[in-house]
Amino acid sequence: MMAFEHIPRKDLYRILGAEPSDTLTELKQKYQKLALLYHPDKQSADVPAGEVGERVQRFIEIDQAWKILGNEETKKEYDLQRRELNIYHYFLLEDDLMQTWPVDAQICLEDMSWNKDERCYTCPCRCGGKYTVSRNEAEEVSLVCCDTCSLIIEILR
Ligand SMILES: [Zn+2]
Repeated sequence: MMAFEHIPRKDLYRILGAEPSDTLTELKQKYQKLALLYHPDKQSADVPAGEVGERVQRFIEIDQAWKILGNEETKKEYDLQRRELNIYHYFLLEDDLMQTWPVDAQICLEDMSWNKDERCYTCPCRCGGKYTVSRNEAEEVSLVCCDTCSLIIEILR
Protein backbone atom coordinates (compact mmCIF):
# COMPACT_ATOMS: atom_id res chain seq x y z
CA MET A 1 0.00 0.00 0.00
CA MET A 2 1.30 3.44 -0.93
CA ALA A 3 2.04 5.61 2.04
CA PHE A 4 -0.48 8.32 2.63
CA GLU A 5 2.24 10.30 4.39
CA HIS A 6 3.55 11.70 1.12
CA ILE A 7 0.37 13.54 0.53
CA PRO A 8 -0.47 16.51 2.71
CA ARG A 9 -3.40 15.45 4.80
CA LYS A 10 -4.52 18.89 5.69
CA ASP A 11 -6.83 20.26 3.15
CA LEU A 12 -7.07 24.04 3.39
CA TYR A 13 -10.81 23.93 2.81
CA ARG A 14 -11.23 21.40 5.57
CA ILE A 15 -9.21 23.59 7.94
CA LEU A 16 -11.75 26.34 7.37
CA GLY A 17 -14.65 23.88 7.62
CA ALA A 18 -15.47 24.92 4.08
CA GLU A 19 -16.17 23.31 0.72
CA PRO A 20 -14.25 23.99 -2.49
CA SER A 21 -17.54 25.13 -4.00
CA ASP A 22 -17.95 27.90 -1.42
CA THR A 23 -17.86 31.48 -2.64
CA LEU A 24 -15.22 33.88 -1.37
CA THR A 25 -17.83 35.50 0.87
CA GLU A 26 -18.77 32.14 2.38
CA LEU A 27 -15.12 31.28 2.90
CA LYS A 28 -14.56 34.61 4.60
CA GLN A 29 -17.49 34.08 6.95
CA LYS A 30 -16.22 30.63 7.90
CA TYR A 31 -12.71 31.95 8.40
CA GLN A 32 -13.88 34.83 10.58
CA LYS A 33 -16.00 32.57 12.73
CA LEU A 34 -13.12 30.17 13.36
CA ALA A 35 -10.50 32.90 13.74
CA LEU A 36 -12.61 34.48 16.45
CA LEU A 37 -13.05 31.13 18.16
CA TYR A 38 -9.34 30.32 18.20
CA HIS A 39 -7.77 33.76 18.42
CA PRO A 40 -5.18 33.73 21.23
CA ASP A 41 -6.54 37.03 22.62
CA LYS A 42 -10.05 35.67 22.81
CA GLN A 43 -9.35 32.59 24.91
CA SER A 44 -11.03 32.42 28.29
CA ALA A 45 -8.80 31.96 31.33
CA ASP A 46 -10.21 28.51 32.15
CA VAL A 47 -8.87 26.81 29.00
CA PRO A 48 -6.43 24.14 30.26
CA ALA A 49 -2.76 24.92 29.61
CA GLY A 50 -2.31 21.90 27.36
CA GLU A 51 -5.13 23.03 25.15
CA VAL A 52 -3.87 26.59 24.78
CA GLY A 53 -0.98 25.44 22.57
CA GLU A 54 -3.31 23.38 20.41
CA ARG A 55 -5.62 26.32 19.96
CA VAL A 56 -2.76 28.60 18.97
CA GLN A 57 -1.64 25.98 16.43
CA ARG A 58 -5.17 25.76 15.13
CA PHE A 59 -5.35 29.53 14.83
CA ILE A 60 -2.10 29.60 12.83
CA GLU A 61 -3.47 26.94 10.45
CA ILE A 62 -6.73 28.80 10.00
CA ASP A 63 -4.85 32.02 9.34
CA GLN A 64 -2.55 30.36 6.79
CA ALA A 65 -5.45 28.69 5.03
CA TRP A 66 -7.23 32.00 4.70
CA LYS A 67 -4.09 33.75 3.42
CA ILE A 68 -4.17 31.35 0.46
CA LEU A 69 -7.90 30.87 -0.05
CA GLY A 70 -8.80 34.49 0.61
CA ASN A 71 -6.82 35.70 -2.37
CA GLU A 72 -8.25 34.97 -5.77
CA GLU A 73 -4.89 34.30 -7.34
CA THR A 74 -3.37 32.05 -4.71
CA LYS A 75 -6.73 30.28 -4.37
CA LYS A 76 -6.74 29.49 -8.07
CA GLU A 77 -3.22 28.15 -7.81
CA TYR A 78 -4.08 26.05 -4.79
CA ASP A 79 -7.22 24.66 -6.46
CA LEU A 80 -5.12 23.52 -9.40
CA GLN A 81 -2.54 21.90 -7.16
CA ARG A 82 -5.22 20.28 -5.09
CA ARG A 83 -6.85 18.78 -8.14
CA GLU A 84 -3.58 17.47 -9.51
CA LEU A 85 -2.74 16.03 -6.15
CA ASN A 86 -6.11 14.32 -5.93
CA ILE A 87 -5.79 12.82 -9.36
CA TYR A 88 -2.25 11.69 -8.65
CA HIS A 89 -3.26 10.35 -5.30
CA TYR A 90 -6.13 8.27 -6.64
CA PHE A 91 -4.15 7.15 -9.63
CA LEU A 92 -1.42 5.74 -7.40
CA LEU A 93 -3.79 4.16 -4.99
CA GLU A 94 -6.19 2.86 -7.56
CA ASP A 95 -5.77 -0.83 -6.75
CA ASP A 96 -6.03 -0.32 -3.04
CA LEU A 97 -8.86 2.09 -3.44
CA MET A 98 -11.00 -0.40 -5.27
CA GLN A 99 -10.85 -2.63 -2.21
CA THR A 100 -11.01 -0.12 0.57
CA TRP A 101 -13.14 2.69 -0.71
CA PRO A 102 -16.39 1.87 -2.35
CA VAL A 103 -16.80 3.33 -5.77
CA ASP A 104 -20.00 5.31 -5.76
CA ALA A 105 -20.91 4.76 -9.38
CA GLN A 106 -19.59 3.60 -12.71
CA ILE A 107 -20.09 5.89 -15.62
CA CYS A 108 -19.16 5.84 -19.28
CA LEU A 109 -17.08 8.77 -20.41
CA GLU A 110 -19.61 9.41 -23.16
CA ASP A 111 -22.29 9.86 -20.52
CA MET A 112 -20.39 12.68 -18.85
CA SER A 113 -20.97 16.17 -20.18
CA TRP A 114 -18.19 17.80 -22.13
CA ASN A 115 -17.41 21.31 -20.97
CA LYS A 116 -16.06 23.14 -24.00
CA ASP A 117 -14.74 26.16 -22.13
CA GLU A 118 -12.79 24.27 -19.52
CA ARG A 119 -12.01 21.35 -21.84
CA CYS A 120 -13.03 18.71 -19.35
CA TYR A 121 -15.73 16.14 -18.75
CA THR A 122 -17.99 16.62 -15.76
CA CYS A 123 -20.83 14.86 -14.07
CA PRO A 124 -22.74 15.77 -10.92
CA CYS A 125 -22.13 14.06 -7.61
CA ARG A 126 -25.05 13.35 -5.30
CA CYS A 127 -23.51 15.69 -2.71
CA GLY A 128 -24.08 18.63 -5.03
CA GLY A 129 -20.41 18.76 -6.05
CA LYS A 130 -19.08 17.42 -9.28
CA TYR A 131 -16.62 15.03 -10.80
CA THR A 132 -14.24 16.64 -13.26
CA VAL A 133 -11.75 14.98 -15.53
CA SER A 134 -9.73 16.63 -18.28
CA ARG A 135 -9.43 15.02 -21.69
CA ASN A 136 -5.84 13.94 -20.94
CA GLU A 137 -6.71 12.58 -17.55
CA ALA A 138 -9.61 10.67 -19.04
CA GLU A 139 -7.16 8.58 -21.02
CA GLU A 140 -5.12 7.58 -18.00
CA VAL A 141 -7.26 7.76 -14.92
CA SER A 142 -10.22 5.56 -14.28
CA LEU A 143 -11.08 6.66 -10.78
CA VAL A 144 -12.09 10.25 -10.16
CA CYS A 145 -12.91 11.84 -6.86
CA CYS A 146 -15.63 14.37 -6.30
CA ASP A 147 -14.34 17.93 -5.96
CA THR A 148 -16.36 18.40 -2.79
CA CYS A 149 -16.82 15.13 -0.93
CA SER A 150 -14.88 11.86 -0.73
CA LEU A 151 -17.02 9.87 -3.16
CA ILE A 152 -15.38 8.29 -6.16
CA ILE A 153 -16.65 7.24 -9.55
CA GLU A 154 -15.14 4.78 -11.94
CA ILE A 155 -14.95 5.83 -15.56
CA LEU A 156 -15.64 3.03 -18.01
CA ARG A 157 -14.24 3.14 -21.51
ZN1 LIG B 1 -19.56 14.62 -3.92
